[in-house]
This record gives sequence, structure tokens and C-alpha cells, in this order.
Amino acid sequence: MADSNKNYSQFRTKVLKILLVIGVIPLLIISVVHLVTVVKTRLENVSELQLQVLQGTSEKIRRYLDQKTDVFNLVIELTPVPKNISEASLSSLNFLIGGLKEEAGDVKEISFIDRDGQEIVKREGGENSTSLVLENVAGREDFQTTIEGVDYFGPINFTSEGPLMRIASQIENREKEAIGIISAEINLELLEEVISKVKVGSQGFVYLIDGEGNLIASSNKNFARPGQNLSQISLIEDTLKNKIHEGKSLEDIYKNSLGDRVIFAAAPVGGIKWFLISEWPWRDAFSVVETLIRGTLVIIVAALSLIMILSLFMARWVVKPVEILGKGADEISKGNLDYRINIKTGDELEKLGSRFNKMIKVLKENQELRDEFVFIAAHELRTPVTVINWYLEMILNGNFGKVEREMKKALDTVDSSNRRLIKLVQDLLEVARSEAGKMEIKVEPVLIGDNIKEVLKGLERLAAEKKIQLIYQELDKTTKAMADAFKLKEVISNLVDNAIKYAIKPGKITINHEIKDNFLITNIKDEGMGISDDNIKKLFTKFFRVKNRETQDIEGTGLGLFICKEIVERMKGKIWAKSQLGKGSTFSFSLPSA
Ligand code: ADP
Repeated sequence: MADSNKNYSQFRTKVLKILLVIGVIPLLIISVVHLVTVVKTRLENVSELQLQVLQGTSEKIRRYLDQKTDVFNLVIELTPVPKNISEASLSSLNFLIGGLKEEAGDVKEISFIDRDGQEIVKREGGENSTSLVLENVAGREDFQTTIEGVDYFGPINFTSEGPLMRIASQIENREKEAIGIISAEINLELLEEVISKVKVGSQGFVYLIDGEGNLIASSNKNFARPGQNLSQISLIEDTLKNKIHEGKSLEDIYKNSLGDRVIFAAAPVGGIKWFLISEWPWRDAFSVVETLIRGTLVIIVAALSLIMILSLFMARWVVKPVEILGKGADEISKGNLDYRINIKTGDELEKLGSRFNKMIKVLKENQELRDEFVFIAAHELRTPVTVINWYLEMILNGNFGKVEREMKKALDTVDSSNRRLIKLVQDLLEVARSEAGKMEIKVEPVLIGDNIKEVLKGLERLAAEKKIQLIYQELDKTTKAMADAFKLKEVISNLVDNAIKYAIKPGKITINHEIKDNFLITNIKDEGMGISDDNIKKLFTKFFRVKNRETQDIEGTGLGLFICKEIVERMKGKIWAKSQLGKGSTFSFSLPSA
């Protein structure tokens, strides 16, 4: 039974595994796809948002710079048309400078330079502007760039006053001819103001770097100081080489100097070799995703638990009919032909269950027929064998005249065979009665000791013939058990008779008792041939006999122990045996104490 239970649990585990695979794998695939999509979509959104901020800010910077160059893009409307700014009067240029400074604001220094690179007027910014020493700057970069017609934005000089940058533009006459340049050093502090207000998400920030990787301005004051060179950061190094990072891949996530893992995105500022960079802490950018993932995980765990519970139930549900069928088969093999299988699944398994039941019914009918046959045969045999027995006894007693020695020998053999026949008929009748439920048993408190002593008395001669001593260790003369005295004697007689029959050498048979859980146990211990473990299991079944060299000459029906079992069980007790091959056996039976 334990074995078959194990089999069902294996089957159940198998069904459970299949159900789990069917339920869990799609769920996991869906979840993973969902999470990957969420992360990817968010990454795209994040980079889009970052780029939008960068582009917006970049336009603002561009506007700021354009505004400066617009101011400096001068057309001198003098007549006669000058070919060189040096032809203009100093007073008019001074007046112009005043106006320009006001318009451009944040001007640190401003100068007019003629076509030959000679400074004509030069002023420092501020309220009390001063004239400075005039020089020839024909070799200077701002002059060389601007005279070619290209606006000049110089490198940034980071000073305590703020980041200073030189801007230069061409001056034209009415006929659009270059007549000189205007060069000014402006303070980019105002640019800082523009940038300082920019935010990405709630914790992201932007900063502006020049073509060397120097920080011009940042919206996070803790990140770096203006003027600090950041080109050693590999993502910035890439940016400077124009390998722009748009924050679209996970490679753009790096741990910045503040120890935050941030999404890095960069955009160039048009027309000038500056770059605007944004760093958005990963946790901030993905906080939405985190909440979503957490939500999804809760759902997954809930769904998994549900699948587990449902699978467990379903596995049980699927295996249940198989278990019922298995139990039915076990019961049939135990000989319980009254067992009926009850499966209500409305499918093939239910049909299989009813086929099983039909099969049991047929088996039962066959068995009943066979039992009836055995009963009738045994019953019909009983009278002739009994008559033979009487006549034999009378003949051997000399009632019909003297019996010669040779004749007596032959009649003795007939007598012993007839006795065996009588025993067989008695056993068969007993078995048939028991199986038909007709075994008459009347349970009452009986003195066990008296019954055992009576049986032992009857077997003394048989034991003595085999030089076997019968020892009875009586518990107490008043010990009583609930039993049918007649049937109890049959059980004891069978067991002691066997102990004598299967002895291989002179020795002893000991009978004793124990009391356990309100049951009186009787043990019959012999020193006989013993029984192997394999055979012990079959001992109490009908017609079972151990077949080996030692037992081949011993006569018997194989019904004695079966009858003992039937009787003991009818008296609400149990019977069992323990044995060691070659050393002896102990047969025990229990009966309710009285
Ligand atoms: P039998 O008529 O053959 O004795 P039983 O049902 O009484 O039938 O016993 C079944 C078998 O169990 C016997 O054939 C014998 O092999 C074995 N057996 C029974 N009792 C003993 C015992 N005390 N020692 C060894 N073998 C035994």
C-alpha cells in the first residue's frame, strides 16, 4: 500500500510539474517581455526628454550668442563711404562704443580695429570706462578670423569675475565692404544664469563645456567648478571627438563624480564648438519604471502563487481517479471482492471504474461458484469418510474377527490416509463456512490457561514421539480473554501441532503470554526449521505451503493457518509470525482481554 501511495505521489508530482510548466513558463515569458518593453520604452522616453531639454537649452545659448554678434555686426553709414574704419572720426567711434556697451551689456573690454589690425579705440567696461594702450593686433586670431568675414568666438578665460570670452565681428561700410573689426571681451555670467535654471526630471542637471572639455556653467553647483577640465571622463572625451551620446543605450549610464549612476546625454551647441551635457540619475529617471516593476513583480508573485495552488488542486483532481482505481486493484488482490470503485468524473475514467466493478462482480460470482463446489464436495465426502473411519476402527478392534498382522499393517495405512482425508474435508468445510460468513463464533470471557492446558494434553503423545518438550508459562490462572472456547482450542491446537510437525530435532516448544493495550497476546515459540522472510508474507493465505526439501515429506493442506487467521480476526484479534530460518519460529495471536 505504501508503495502504491508512493507511485501516486510520483504521478501527482509529474502532473504537477506539467501543469506548472504550462502555467509558469508563459507567465514568465510575458512578464519578461513586458518588463523589457517597459524598460526600453522608458529609456527612449528618457533620452527623448533629455534631448528635448538639451536642444531647448542649446537654442537659448545660441540666441544669447547671436544676440551678442548681432550687436557687434556694425554697418558704418558714413559719407563719404570710408574704406577703413580709421577714416571715421574718433568722437563718433567713442559714441558708438558707448552705445554698444549698453546694448551688449556684460562687456569687459571693447575695441575697434582697422583693416590693418591697428586698434583705434579701446575701452574697458564698467561705469568708469578707461582708454587703454592701443596695439596692432594683426597677428591675433580674432582679427584674422573676422577679417575673413567669420564671426569669432574665442576661448574662455576663467577668472574670478566669471568666464570671459572674446567675441569679434566685421565692420562694414554701406557698400558691404569690410573696413575693420570690432572685438570685445564679454562676461558669460549671464549664460550661467540661463543654464542654472535648467533641470532634467527632479534630480537631473545640465552643464555646458567648451571644446576643450572645460566647464563653462552647470545647473548643479556641486558637480564641478567653472573652468574645471572634464575631458578625462571618457563619455566627455567621446563627446569632444563628436561621438555624440544621446542617452539611448545603457552604455550611456556611468557613475559620475558625485557617486550617482546617471544617464549621460550630450548635444552640440550650433555654430560654436561647445557641448551641452545632461546627467540624469538613473533612479530618478527610472523611478516610474521601478514602481511599475514592483507592481508587476507583486502581480507575478500573486499569479505564481495562484498557479501553484490551482496546479496542486488540479494535480490532485487528475490523480484522484487513478488513486481510486489503484486502491480498488489493491483491495481485489487482497481478496476483497465486495469492494466497489466509485469514480464520478463523467469521462473514460468513470467508464473504466464501472468496468472494474463489473470485473470484480464476475470474479466474485466465480469465487462463489468455486466455494460452493468445494463446500458441496467436502460436505458430500464427510459422510463416506466418517463411515470408513468407523468401520476401520471396528475392524482394527477385532469386532469382525481376528486381524492378521499383514492385514493390520495394510489397514493401518488405510486408516492414516483416511484420517488425512477427514482432516482435509474438515478444513475445506471450515474454510467454505468461513468464506460464506457461516462460521459460528460465540465470544465470551474464557480462561485461556485451561484451554491451552487441555490442548497440550491432547498433543503430549505426538510431542513425545519427536522428543519435544511442551512448556507452558501460565500468566495467571484467572487470565481471561474474549473468545469462543471451541474455536480458540482449534487455533492453539493448529499452532502447537505445526510447531511439533515442523520441528527438525528434539527440543522444546514454549507457550507464554503478554498483555499489551488491553489485548492478551499468546506466543508459541518453537526451535523448528523456521520460515524465510519471503514465505512469512504468504503464510496466512489459503493453500500456502512452504515447498522445500525439509517440508516435502510432511503432510498438510495449507489451510490451517488460514483458518486460524479467520477465527482470530472474527474474535477481534490479530495473528502474526516471526521466524529465523534454521533457528525456529514464534507464532503469536492477540485477543481482547476480558
Ligand atoms: P499445513 O497443513 O501445510 O501445515 P498450515 O496453514 O498450517 O498448513 O501452514 C502453512 C505452512 O506454513 C506449512 O506448510 C509450513 O511450511 C509453514 N509452517 C507453519 N507452521 C510452521 C512452523 N511452526 N515452523 C515452520 N514452518 C511452519
